[in-house]
Formats: sequence, structure tokens, C-alpha cells
Amino acid sequence: MPFAVVHILIPILVLQFASRFFAKVKSVLTWKRLLIAGFFGAFPDADAIISFFAGSNLHRTFTHSYFAPLLVLVLAVVLKKWRIGILFAGFGWFMHVTLDLLVSGTLPIFYPIETHFGFRLLVENASGFANILTLILFDATVLAVWVLYNKKLIFRKRKK
Ligand SMILES: [Zn+2]
Repeated sequence: MPFAVVHILIPILVLQFASRFFAKVKSVLTWKRLLIAGFFGAFPDADAIISFFAGSNLHRTFTHSYFAPLLVLVLAVVLKKWRIGILFAGFGWFMHVTLDLLVSGTLPIFYPIETHFGFRLLVENASGFANILTLILFDATVLAVWVLYNKKLIFRKRKK
């Protein structure tokens, strides 16, 4: 599991980058919608909090399958009024599952089918000092990339 910074900033970076090449993305991209994508990029890990209070292990079950963002997509089709915002939420959720799938551990991406998949490209799992340090460095790297990509916005000189 990558940590929150990666889960929030990767969907935002992908959408910002895509808006450079796809006019359709650029036409619907707002800061509010980027924040929605970022929020839902981290939201699936809320199941860990629910697990803690419920006393059961719900983490990395339904919320970490591709059915969850698919349901969000269906919601976008049904609720025309908020369609674009919901699509950004679904994209954030899709990116969360994909990042977890690629970076560490395994996921039941076709939940309730219990077969787990995982590429573990960065670490085996999120336990142990070396693995956690690697995930923290990954967070720091993504944050640095996001700051550099947005430096004109962040370090813009204010007119007096
Ligand atoms: Zn996760």
C-alpha cells in the first residue's frame, strides 16, 4: 500500500498531465474536480479505519476491487447532474486500486472472488522498517514531482 500522499497526488498529476494532450480533459478540469479525484484516490483506505472500529478485517476487500470504481461509473451514468465530478471520483478510486496493485501487497481485484493479484513492483508489503522507509521515500518523490510540475502555480509572484 502506497501512503496517502501518493494516493492523492498521482491521480491529480495524471489528470493535469492528460489535460495537456487531451482537450476534452482540459475542458472539464477544475481545481475542485482535481481535489475530488485526489480525495477518492485516498478514500478506499478508509476501510482500514472502519475495520479498526468494527474489529474485523475489511481492509483491502471490496473497496480494493475494480467493482467499486465500476459502481461509481454506473452512478455517473445514472446521476447526470454530477456526472463529471463523479467520473473524477471514479478515476481517483480506479487509480487507488491500480497503485496498490502495482506497488505492494496483493488485492482481490475481482472481489468477491477471493483470488488475489499483485505486482509488488516497489515492496513486498507495507511492514518492516525498510519497506516503510521505501514507501515514505516514494511519497516524498511524488510530492517533489507534483511541486515541480506545479511550481508556476505555487511560487507565482503576487502583484502588488
Ligand atoms: Zn489501499
